[in-house]
Amino acid sequence: MTQPPSLADIAAQLEAYDPQALPANEVLNFLDHLVTPVQDSESVDIFAALGRVTAQDVISPINVPPHDNSAMDGFAFDGAQLSDSQALSLKVVGTALAGKAWEGAVNAGECVKIMTGAIMPKGLNTVVPQELCHITASQTIEIPAGLLKAGDNRRLCGEDITQGQPALLKGASITPAAAGLLASLGVPNVLVVRRLRVAYFSTGDEILSLGEAPREGAVYDSNRYTVHGMLQALGCEMIDMGVVKDEPDLLEQAFNKAAEQADAIITSGGVSVGEADFTKAMMKKLGDVVFWKIAMRPGRPMAVGRIQKGQRSAVLFGLPGNPVAVMVTFLAFVKPALLKMMGSTATPLPMLRARTQEVLRKKPGRTEYQRGIVSRNAEGELQVITTGNQGSGVLSSMVQANGLIVLSHPQGTAQLGDWVDVLVL
Ligand code: AMP
Ligand code: MG
Repeated sequence: MTQPPSLADIAAQLEAYDPQALPANEVLNFLDHLVTPVQDSESVDIFAALGRVTAQDVISPINVPPHDNSAMDGFAFDGAQLSDSQALSLKVVGTALAGKAWEGAVNAGECVKIMTGAIMPKGLNTVVPQELCHITASQTIEIPAGLLKAGDNRRLCGEDITQGQPALLKGASITPAAAGLLASLGVPNVLVVRRLRVAYFSTGDEILSLGEAPREGAVYDSNRYTVHGMLQALGCEMIDMGVVKDEPDLLEQAFNKAAEQADAIITSGGVSVGEADFTKAMMKKLGDVVFWKIAMRPGRPMAVGRIQKGQRSAVLFGLPGNPVAVMVTFLAFVKPALLKMMGSTATPLPMLRARTQEVLRKKPGRTEYQRGIVSRNAEGELQVITTGNQGSGVLSSMVQANGLIVLSHPQGTAQLGDWVDVLVL
């Protein structure tokens, strides 16, 4: 295996690399160079595969559907007999049921009563839905002129998936639809990428674990809960390492234990500039780590790199301490990086555009993520309003929000009614 690039190598490749004011898109670029997909895979059944990512193309062993069949309850006939000017009268000579084909011959002027999903009898290519034809005499139907074309209401063999063709590509997410598709192929197991193992802990002497008595100057740890929730939503295997006090021995133990087991480590707190704590020093000591000031709000400080433990190394995401900053930096940067590590090639949903219902003051030169509530106005257009106090510690703003208003790096103040980008939460 080739050596992964050092952080210095990655930085040298980026055009606008300035660790003191790193634009958000350069953060994404950097992380894309830093992380690589997990190579291990395992075979799991379809239920267990939900939410996982395929490790190779899934080739279909069969045609789906396996035969030409009817899309409707009605009457199957040879569509060559249709004319635009004249109704077609046909004699019903048999019945084809789903799971019970009609094997007899059908001549011109004849048809077969057919149910949805039943195999099309030999030589027939068209179905008239029952409600569109008149049953004239016993065992005779009439199809009005101009209503149908040859081939209507017939599903073709292999029209969903053709035998030998990839039904799912490598890197596809096993969604409920994909699980159903695999089942429709008769495929009971699928090779998926091993679950990504992510260790996470909160740092800071002022951070209380749940259950501890409140004390002056201390705050309860909320970051571990938001990070846990966001990791769970991604389908990661989680290693919760609790709150780690700002003491060199404890931090060293925590980083070593995390690097031994995990593909990625997520910490919160202790990475701000001028922070008088040991977190940054320990990250530096144990790995190849850079400390950034990102040109963004909220969330400026972030540490990124690899923590080494023997032969193993884990990617480090050292997030800021402020609870909203943690969620925003996770969603904006960590999530895409983890998805790449998980082997996912899914295209993320594009952002929405909505008209801002208030003036959003902003200076060019940084990306801002404001918590917003998107709705529809009387004209049917999307509109967005902020949740009020945008302080980076105000977690209730994330609870109320259904989207993040993303004001891009170069843009200035958004005036009332301007279109702005919204990342749906
Ligand atoms: P720091 O980045 O360590 O300077 O922390 C910035 C702010 O976030 C401080 O007010 C911390 O008390 C707060 N903070 C840090 N970690 C957490 C946490 N795990 N849960 C809640 N707030 C935190
Ligand atoms: Mg701190």
